[in-house]
Formats: sequence, C-alpha cells, structure tokens
Amino acid sequence: MLFADVVLPLPVDHPFTYEIPSDIKVVVGSRVLVPFHKQKKVGFVIALHDRGGHHPLKKIEALPGPPETDLSPSYLEWLIWASHYYLAPLGEVLATALPSPFFKLDPRQSLPQKKSRSSPLADHWVHEKEVVLNDEQQKVFLQIRDNVFSGEFKPILLHGVTGSGKTEIYIHLIHEIIRSGKQVLYLVPEIGLTPQIVARLRHHFGEKLALYHSGLTENQRLREWLRVKSGTAVLLVGTRSALFGPFCNLGMIIIDEEHDSSYKQEERFRYQARDLALVRGKMEKIPVLMGSATPSLESYFNAKNKKYLFYSLTNRPEASAFPKITLIDMTVEKRQSGSPLILCRELHQAIADTLNRREQVLILFNRRGFAVSHFCLACQKGVVCPHCSVVLPYHKKQNILLCHYCDASQTLTSVCPSCGSSQMTLIGSGTETLEGELKTFYPQARINRLDRDSVQKKGALLSVLKDLREGKIDILVGTQMIAKGHDIARVTLVGVVGIDAVLGVPDFRSSERCFQLLTQVAGRAGRGTMPGKVIVQSFNPKHFSIKAVDDHAFDRFYEQELKWRSELGYPPYGRLIDIRFFSPDSGKIQHFIKWLFVQLPSLSIHETKILGPAPSPIEKLRGRYRWHLVLKGTSPSALRQTALKILSLRDQGGFKGIKWAVDVDPINML
Ligand SMILES: [Zn+2]
Ligand SMILES: [Zn+2]
Repeated sequence: MLFADVVLPLPVDHPFTYEIPSDIKVVVGSRVLVPFHKQKKVGFVIALHDRGGHHPLKKIEALPGPPETDLSPSYLEWLIWASHYYLAPLGEVLATALPSPFFKLDPRQSLPQKKSRSSPLADHWVHEKEVVLNDEQQKVFLQIRDNVFSGEFKPILLHGVTGSGKTEIYIHLIHEIIRSGKQVLYLVPEIGLTPQIVARLRHHFGEKLALYHSGLTENQRLREWLRVKSGTAVLLVGTRSALFGPFCNLGMIIIDEEHDSSYKQEERFRYQARDLALVRGKMEKIPVLMGSATPSLESYFNAKNKKYLFYSLTNRPEASAFPKITLIDMTVEKRQSGSPLILCRELHQAIADTLNRREQVLILFNRRGFAVSHFCLACQKGVVCPHCSVVLPYHKKQNILLCHYCDASQTLTSVCPSCGSSQMTLIGSGTETLEGELKTFYPQARINRLDRDSVQKKGALLSVLKDLREGKIDILVGTQMIAKGHDIARVTLVGVVGIDAVLGVPDFRSSERCFQLLTQVAGRAGRGTMPGKVIVQSFNPKHFSIKAVDDHAFDRFYEQELKWRSELGYPPYGRLIDIRFFSPDSGKIQHFIKWLFVQLPSLSIHETKILGPAPSPIEKLRGRYRWHLVLKGTSPSALRQTALKILSLRDQGGFKGIKWAVDVDPINML
C-alpha cells in the first residue's frame, strides 16, 4: 500500500490522502503527522490503498509520539460507525473522543512530571463499610452475574426504586469482572453531583480507578487515558466523555442513571453516550448494564419487548418505607388561604415540624416557574432579549434584567419598548422571594441555595453538599441539581414548587421529564431510618405524570406515556432527526427558508415525514435566528438517507451565511 487516508480534527466530511514514504511504517489507526496547507497537523490513518490519483501527493512525516496513542482498528471502526449514524464528520468525532494533546506533536510533553492528584473529589467522605447485599440485592446480583460472563453482548436494564441500593450491586459486579482480568467502564451523569459514589468506588478500587470528566485539565485527561490504555487502571469512572476510554480489555459497561439528559452532548458531535455505549458493547461482545429508578421511555420499551434483560429492585434496604407523598392543588389552596405566600400552609407546617426534630429539608424549585419579569400592563408584553427571543428575567441583586442564554443585561425602563406606554411593572416571584419567605418564617434556620449560579465558584458545589451531609444546612433550596443521587439520612422532608413549568415546555418529553424529576426528588426523602415526607405543590395535580408519582404507579405512567407516543409516532415508536439552520441575518434566513420550501418536494424521499421548516421554539438565540426541520420515521436508515439528501442542498443556492447543524435522536428541540 502506497497511500493513506488520514482524518484530521476538522469539521470536514472526508479524509485527506497522503503518500507513505518507504521508511515509515503506517497501519490503520496510526497517529501521523502530515503537511496541511502551510501547517503541519496530527491525524489518524483510517485506510490504506494504492489509489493515489493523478497529482503527486504530499507525504506523511514521521511522528515521535508513543505507540499508546495509536488507535485500535476496532475502536476506530466504532468511531466511524458513530460518525455515520450521527451524521457528524469523523474529524469532529475524533476531536471529541480523544484528549486534545493527541493532536499535538508529542503528547508526552504535556504530561505533568510529578504525579498530581487527579481530582479534589478524591478527598470526600469515605466511610464505607463492607458492602453486604440483602436478599433482594443478592438475588438480582446473581441473575445479572449469570449473564455478564457469557462472552456475548447483553443489554441489561436494572430498575431499582430510589434508595434500593443499585450501587452495591454495581460494586459487586465490578469486583467480579476485575477478578476475571477485565476492565470496567462506569458512566455517571455529572461527577460533581455524585462525589459519594466516586469516594465509595475509590475506597474499593483505590489506584486501579481512573477518573475522566470535564473538570480535569487536558493533561490530566491524557494521563488517565494512558492508564486505561496500558491496563494500570481497570475501572474508569466518568461522565459521557469517558465513554471514549481506550480500553485494552473491556469486560462490562455500567451506565448509572441511564435516563439522565447529561448523557446527550448538545454541540458539535451530538451523540447520546448511552446509545453509543450500547453499540460499543455490541461490537466488543460484552454486557451493558443500565440502571435507573426512572428509566427512559426508550429503555423501558426495549425491556418490555425483551430486547433488554430486565431486573428490578423494589425495596429500600435501610429506609423504613417510601416517603409519603402529598399533592397540594394550588388553585384550591390559593382560593382557601387567600395568602400571597409561595409555599402552601401544609408545606410550611411540615418545614416547621422537620426543623423542630432537627432534621433537614430540601425544596426543589423550577427556575422557569420562578422568574420575575418586567412587564407592560398596557400591551401585556415583557421585555425581550435583543439577541434571544425570550423574556428577560429580573435579577434583584443587581437590579437588572439579565438573559440566561447570552448574558446580555438591561436596566429597567419606565417606557414600554413595545408600545411606549409607561405602565411597566415587575411581575412574578423570583427565587429571592422564595428564599426571603423561608428566612422570614424560619429566622433560626441555616438556609442555602444550590443552582447553576450559586455553584459557579470552584469547589462551591462540593462544599454545599458537604455542609448538607454534615448537618450544617437546615433547608437547602435548589433546582433539579438537588434531585440527583444525594443520599443524606437526615433529609426527611422534600418540598416541590413550580413543577408545572416542566410540563409547560413545548417538547414531547415534558411528561417524562416531570415524572422523572418528581420521582427522583421524592426519592431524596427518608433515605435513612427516619420516615420521609414529600409535599408537591401544583396547579395541575391531576396530570397523569404527577398522579403516577403520587400513587407510586411506575408501570401505569410508562404504559400511558407509551400509548400516547405510539399514537403520534414519537420515540420509542418513531425516530427523529432535527436539522437546524442559523443566521444572524433575519432577511438572509427568510430567503433561505423560502428557497428550502421550494427544494424539499423535489427530493425523492422514502418512509420519512418532513415537518417544517419552522422557526425553533426559541426563535432567536445569542443573536442568531433559528429555524429547523424535523424528520420523523420508523426506519433509521431511511431517515438518514433523507437527512443526507437535505444536507446535500448545503452547497446549492449560494447561501453562504447559513449555518447548519444536525441532531440525530434529539432530546431537546428548543
Ligand atoms: Zn407596552
Ligand atoms: Zn439573550
């Protein structure tokens, strides 16, 4: 073979062909240095052949990199599959999958000389006792174990109610796999929110554990990467990017909280880590264990249709019982109490009781439901961000209107920007109001807040979680971040306010999200031996997803939601591809969309329904106008063919200023 096709970390759809000099040995997967325009770039060989074409080609140059940075053919094959499936350029897939030092001349130069601690997470809360399984856990563990050494691809869904002890089963399985000489990949949604799990795993597996997540520097990532590749690390724990770990001998993949939306990457190479892990498992012929208290509809459906093995844990080993859930109809509450308070009387009473018992309270609020906006009484319009088509929320601390999408801020105005009247007023209640209400009612209580804003400072998140655990916080108010995985024995009351806003999002997954969020947050109550209580405030308490949580009716929710999805052809019954168009120029994008409307009918399309083009629900974001097309169908390959045909229009019509993005299996259509 005289020539090599080389993929460079660029968003282009094709590889570049180079000549192989006789003194350099190159195989598929080799990391190579090539001249590219006037630069030199590092890329990977994906094919060898003898078709050089008519023009003399540039030559591959020698690369001093260590052999550990070459890719194995099977790994490369998996990435190529991903590039096809997600309609993403292979160069972009590689750039996402590999730590960035891979694309430097010698990655070893970027490795720190002295060994540094891989993460501050390592220091947290290790008081792990011997893990003993109860009868139910033991039974499920043995059943799963029977399937993990079969040398076959086995997708397994483990449904374990909150607090049922899935982690103990994972730990036992990991021990067994490692004992058999193989490696394990353990994916978690967000590592910062689950320091306990990392600490427990480190306690069990010590130096054999590698950590991989976005909080590491690129050099730390590289170091962990090489430990996995060489086999010094046998357990890799990490967020979605850990999926690309270069295992030499992978024996099992565990995906904890498989339903979590953090597994979806929402930019450039838009992949779903759970789905791609299943593909990897299939290629490597290994088991893939997915665990959740609230499985995604897709996984539930596959389990129901026997495509996945299905096991469930229905008991909480330590806790006395499931928390009692009380639904408060806020329409009735407002009418009866006539009070302007945010929290209902029952929740206030329960908070007071809980504090009296020196136990802890979590209050989940939905940010969407808690926004103050600057509103015109004359024309009924709010002040809209000039770059994003969203109403600007008011921030009391700085006394400004601040956009959550683009960070643009505006001062309050006395004149309405829409109609010019001077009847501007602030409406709605903000998170500060909620905190204020709590402070007024419980002046002695130590109250803290957990949301994206409050944890921006490094270490803030860990310190809040630590304080909560050590009993230094009485009431923790937070967004969905507080619903995830925390296991704190003294939390006995969970209050939920503003859940209706989740249902108000124009997305076919809103009921599923509402059910998952409520179930997960309710599961934070009563994890220890003290009984837990959950109070949910809603203006919509009869909604089936809220009712199902109230009744602990897991199957009923899924069956009802599946029925609705099947009627409309939404996943898991159908599949979607979202093709998005952006431009900062509204005239240009209008013109382009008109042209697209004319082009679409001339494409020959099979088994695909094209919805749109239509403006995205958020029509303008960070200064860009947004439109999209949704492709819907049951055959993934037909959908992909249609998408490719539409993408082939990209170079026609001369619309240079329009950016395109493709999202296969989208989970967020805003
Ligand atoms: Zn107005
Ligand atoms: Zn904005």
